[in-house]
Amino acid sequence: MKNLIYFWKRFLLPHLSLFVLVLCTGMIAAAASGAGVPFMVKYVFPVVFRGEAGDTPELLSLIPALQSLSADSLLLLACASMPAIFLVRGVAMWGNAVMVNILGIRILETLRMQVFCRVQELPIAFMESRRKGDIMSRILADTGSVQGILTTVSNDLIKQPITAACAIGAFIYLLVSSGQGVLFLVNLVFIGIAACPIYEFGKRISQKAQRAQQGLGELNTAVQQNLENQREVRAYAMEEREIQEFRKVSWRLRTNIVKLVKYQKALVPVMEIVTALALSFLLVRGRMCGLTLTDFMAIAAALFFTFDSMKRAGTAWNRFNEAQGALKRLAEVMLEPNTIPESENPKTFGGPVKGEIRFRKVSFGYDPEKLVLRDVDLTIPPGQIVGLVGPSGSGKTTFASLIPRFYEATKGAVEVDGIDVRELRTHELRENLSLVGQQALLFAGTIRENIRLGRMAASDEEIMAAADSAAVTKFLSSQPQGIDTELGQGGAGLSGGQRQRVAIARAFVKDAPILILDEATASLDAESEREIQEELDKLAQGRTTLIVAHRFSTIRNAQRILVFDYGRIVGDGTHEELYASCPLYKELYDRQGID
Ligand code: ADP
Repeated sequence: MKNLIYFWKRFLLPHLSLFVLVLCTGMIAAAASGAGVPFMVKYVFPVVFRGEAGDTPELLSLIPALQSLSADSLLLLACASMPAIFLVRGVAMWGNAVMVNILGIRILETLRMQVFCRVQELPIAFMESRRKGDIMSRILADTGSVQGILTTVSNDLIKQPITAACAIGAFIYLLVSSGQGVLFLVNLVFIGIAACPIYEFGKRISQKAQRAQQGLGELNTAVQQNLENQREVRAYAMEEREIQEFRKVSWRLRTNIVKLVKYQKALVPVMEIVTALALSFLLVRGRMCGLTLTDFMAIAAALFFTFDSMKRAGTAWNRFNEAQGALKRLAEVMLEPNTIPESENPKTFGGPVKGEIRFRKVSFGYDPEKLVLRDVDLTIPPGQIVGLVGPSGSGKTTFASLIPRFYEATKGAVEVDGIDVRELRTHELRENLSLVGQQALLFAGTIRENIRLGRMAASDEEIMAAADSAAVTKFLSSQPQGIDTELGQGGAGLSGGQRQRVAIARAFVKDAPILILDEATASLDAESEREIQEELDKLAQGRTTLIVAHRFSTIRNAQRILVFDYGRIVGDGTHEELYASCPLYKELYDRQGID
């Protein structure tokens, strides 16, 4: 229910006028079907077939003006009323269906946009705790499923109950006016019986649908993982294993969908059996009580519309329950608390950033119970080049990740230029920081566009200068369109070293006072590493630089080295100092034996 209110406020309210139109047209169509047809049978048919009983038809007593019309005109009018009712019903249904679809499409767009925007602002930890394929499935498949449901919900969940209400109203009126109160009570029992499967199936459908949507997410993840790792799949001959894995996930999805379909499709036959029972009962009872054919027909029409609209409303309710599964998964994204919130009164640097970094007794754990950084307390003055070394898993990357506030310190504070990063506008903090990681992340687009991502306002001259500094220009001549060569997704078309140079050029363009190099050359061969090291050294000049090092050659220019061990800093000094005083550093250095 909470989800429903949330989605109503967030998605339906902005389209209120369209929603009201949908309601109105739905009501007109509902009234024309639920009450229009039975009343026509009751009042208009006797005008046409008058004379059997010799009475004046009721319609003529109700509207005396009609009595002055000739028999032919009355016949014409009576005959015209049938298409007239169906014309009103048809136009209203058409308008209703079109507007419901427009509403659905608009809602889907808003929904997709909002989920996507939400994903952009959620902490990195959220992304890491979920699989990419699953998040994709939520953005695309779940929103699509919700749209389908909202369309049905707004259409049938509103129109059909109104039709049922009008039909029941007509039914009561017709029974009471022909003295058949008992029939009404008996049919109330049938209506009650018909409502039970709607409720029961609805509950089950919601559970099964959530499982099916989840299965779709798993399928997405499997496909995405497989496509992203095609090289590994082939290199390790994992094709058969991947196929088996995909078959398993696909089979699970199929089983869940079959279970869902069984319940979805059960409602209509159950409802039809109840309708047939109610109509037979009406037939027997009508015969016993001597109902006239007109009365019987009118009551049967009202009864038919009651059950028919209940059946349709029930089917819509099932669809709605199916959407509940997708809604729950979307709500998880939309209602996920932002563990890295913006400060309410953010501070600003108020001028050029010097780049001083301070860790005040910082402890941090991805899981608060399991700290991976403990009591880190140090200051890095502006412009200092600092190397971070230590065994794998000792916390170097984590330490560097706290500066852009990818994660929040569990205890203590991280400061840049004396301001706690939690109090700074995250955007401003990150504008003053460049990050070059192990894998250069390039986007589909030209090399120029990829460099410009560092600073969108950069001029072409600045981009060329950055490309020059990062030695991108060296390999541009081998590219078909130079700097305007289109790259594939992830920078396909360039070698690892070339991609890394584009990423370095991006950092040059950004010209941020703080630079984090996280094993920036780790994935390169020795020769590319040596070449790129020069560009990185140039980039580090004049900036506060943190170099997460896997090889000692990458920190040859570091003025200071921090040695990490089990989340603590066990050594802090120059190479010479540490080699003499820090056993871990000496061991690591000797083992690598570089330089
Ligand atoms: P290093 O960079 O020194 O190799 P990391 O900072 O990457 O070490 O990792 C420190 C510890 O934190 C390791 O035990 C690692 O398993 C854990 N860790 C790193 N990243 C995550 C993450 N995203 N979620 C949970 N644990 C993580």
